[in-house]
Amino acid sequence: MPMALVSSDSATDGRSTQVPAAWRALRIAVIGAGLSGLAAARMLADQQHQVSLFEKSRGCGGRAATRRAAYPSGQPSGQPLRFDHGAQYFTARDPGFQRRVQSWAQRGLVAPWDGRIGAFDGTEFTPAGQETTRWVGVPGMSALGRELAKGLSVRLETRVMPPRWCRGRWQLSDEAGTDLGRFDRVVVSAPAPQSAELLMDAPRLAAQAACVDYTPCWTLMLGFDTPVPLAFDGVFVNQTQGPLRWVARDSSKPGRARPARDAAVAGNATRSEEDCWVLHAEPGWTRKHLNDPPEQVEAAMLEAFAALVELAGGSLPRINWRQSHSWLYSLVETPLEEGCLWDPALGIGACGDWCNGARIEGAWLSGEAIASRLLAAVASA
Ligand SMILES: Cc1cc2nc3c(=O)[nH]c(=O)nc-3n(C[C@H](O)[C@H](O)[C@H](O)COP(=O)(O)OP(=O)(O)OC[C@H]3O[C@@H](n4cnc5c(N)ncnc54)[C@H](O)[C@@H]3O)c2cc1C
Repeated sequence: MPMALVSSDSATDGRSTQVPAAWRALRIAVIGAGLSGLAAARMLADQQHQVSLFEKSRGCGGRAATRRAAYPSGQPSGQPLRFDHGAQYFTARDPGFQRRVQSWAQRGLVAPWDGRIGAFDGTEFTPAGQETTRWVGVPGMSALGRELAKGLSVRLETRVMPPRWCRGRWQLSDEAGTDLGRFDRVVVSAPAPQSAELLMDAPRLAAQAACVDYTPCWTLMLGFDTPVPLAFDGVFVNQTQGPLRWVARDSSKPGRARPARDAAVAGNATRSEEDCWVLHAEPGWTRKHLNDPPEQVEAAMLEAFAALVELAGGSLPRINWRQSHSWLYSLVETPLEEGCLWDPALGIGACGDWCNGARIEGAWLSGEAIASRLLAAVASA
């Protein structure tokens, strides 16, 4: 029988996927609209399958997230404050991912962050890793997820319960018991501990997911009324005692209102220009203080930041806005290095940073890997 082919280059960077004539559109559910789920959904939808993406939060992008805020009295710049409170930036090492990122850059979804990055070892500041290209979403990390979800069928604010295997198909429902439909295939893209629960009817995959741990991370977002007098825009704080691990001037990222950092360092910042900072706590410190009241955590992180700025010869300007967030799952400790997980007999699989090297690049490639596995299984059936 001649083979009818369906190919796509938008999700595969020119690597076309070929599907035989016996092909029929499958109903596929993707649980989780972080970057791995979006990569998988895009690639499967490009092959004309009926893909439904379910996301428990109010937006897409998962941990590549941005919080928007407004001062009660309005901002001097007139723009909302933006804080990338999850992933700070991402790198691209895999050639296919590099091409993908270039295509996002051409569409204006991402841009390189040329911020001055430093390291602090407890006594002095030194420049760090200037040769690395650090990519960020524009005007915030969340822009990437928002844009990549366009054209897909996404159901937000829908927390999916563990899919049940029922007469050869997967039955999905949400936490209120609402029927979400029956699907031929399911892709789970939640962080590993949540995936382990979602995969209860696929015990082999659930057992693999249950082995993966994440570091937690307390995050503090701070809006200052004038620029913080620090010569760096991002600092790795290499002190094991905590509380800080990383501090970053979000305002220095492309597409945000940029404050006059150099004037502030020289001590002559005269204009009122808000400056947005994100502080990440050290993982060990976060674990110890995970259940502390937010005000207590904020005070400790703020004190450490003030001490850091003082050591650099300055002092913190007035804070106009602050908020903290605790991430239970931030970075994967030991990823599986499997690419993705797939059970061919059950037609269910998993992807995410925990399957394929922590971080955004690993997550995206894992999403592409599960879509390829699923399409290959369909093609060979
Ligand atoms: C504080 C912090 C700092 C980081 N820094 C960096 C960095 O600098 N560089 C970098 O590359 N990476 C960084 N990362 C890691 C990076 O954000 C992740 O590796 C990547 O975003 C993971 O994508 P993912 O799709 O695998 O998972 P996620 O982004 O977690 O997406 C999973 C999605 O599934 C949804 N979900 C879960 N359960 C359900 C359910 N039952 N029903 C429906 N939806 C569900 C979640 O809401 C989420 O949107 C950081 C992360 C954090 C939190």
